[in-house]
Amino acid sequence: MGRITLEKVRKAFGEVEVIPPLDLTIEEGEFVVFVGPSGCGKSTLLRLIAGLEDVTGGEIRIDGQDATAVPPAKRGLAMVFQSYALYPHMSVRKNIAFPLRMAKMDRAEQDRRVTAAASVLNLTDYLDRKPGQLSGGQRQRVAIGRAIVREPAAFLFDEPLSNLDAALRVGMRLEISELHKRLKTTMIYVTHDQVEAMTMADKIVVLRAGHIEQVGSPLDLYYNPRNLFVAGFIGSPKMNLLTGPEAEKRGAHTIGIRPEHIALSTTDGAWKGRVGVAEHLGSDTFFHVHCDGVQDSMTVRVGGEVGLNYGDSVYLSPDEERMHRFDDRGLRIA
Ligand code: ADP
Ligand code: MG
Repeated sequence: MGRITLEKVRKAFGEVEVIPPLDLTIEEGEFVVFVGPSGCGKSTLLRLIAGLEDVTGGEIRIDGQDATAVPPAKRGLAMVFQSYALYPHMSVRKNIAFPLRMAKMDRAEQDRRVTAAASVLNLTDYLDRKPGQLSGGQRQRVAIGRAIVREPAAFLFDEPLSNLDAALRVGMRLEISELHKRLKTTMIYVTHDQVEAMTMADKIVVLRAGHIEQVGSPLDLYYNPRNLFVAGFIGSPKMNLLTGPEAEKRGAHTIGIRPEHIALSTTDGAWKGRVGVAEHLGSDTFFHVHCDGVQDSMTVRVGGEVGLNYGDSVYLSPDEERMHRFDDRGLRIA
């Protein structure tokens, strides 16, 4: 259960084509993340799958059945939004049971499902509270609980953690990943945050202006970005990108090298430069190095701490084996 295929799915709002025809397969049990900059069509694509928007063209199949014209409630999918949309006057128990009450499900079965969901989400002790008496993370769990009790073929999440503070986001990220391991249900998760995508996904779909730029596992995208957009989008801090003689020398229009694939030395190396700003994270230090003849500063990762000061002379040596080469259209050169 939970295999979803999109075939030539397209969406236009009036004259504006937001999603040009697009093909995508989401396998049963997969955790798929749609990632891309704001406005690239992630929510629209999710809403098309949910049935909250009608497709302009193409076909959506869920477990082999054509679902293109099936109303949202009949698709067997459950959506979790950024705003939790809980009923403030209802207890946690009633909020979670809400879709089951609407479906007039047998009371004993309702209780069984709510109890099971609360246990999975560590909400057992909070079932009689109102949403106002819960923390942000707990409220988000109630919203997820309300999705779980429907026992959907797939969960659809639209930026569910964007309202939470940084520490809580990391915690909830782990909880959702853990939930996926336990339930083994298909999950489609939308975010603009590439770190969320990298840490949670089995498969990442990188979108730009409604186009799929690349589909692959997090490490596929990290090690083999198909084009400059993916190369620049995936990875933090970003891949260093250089044009000019250094690229031409390597038969490319642009070369890319990640901060951890550059060796830093005070005595010798391929590129001479000066230390600019350093970011000390304790575990790592990121040096921004201004190299002779290179326009932007290069980011270099060094493990732990290194005693270098602003303005010091250094040499950088990129690992040529780890170098990415792109042509003048921004496409990877094999
Ligand atoms: P994302 O979720 O990636 O930030 P959206 O899917 O919300 O992007 O939006 C993609 C594009 O579609 C944007 O340019 C947005 O303005 C446009 N759009 C979204 N919904 C509508 C709508 N109901 N009517 C017209 N344009 C819309
Ligand atoms: Mg959105």
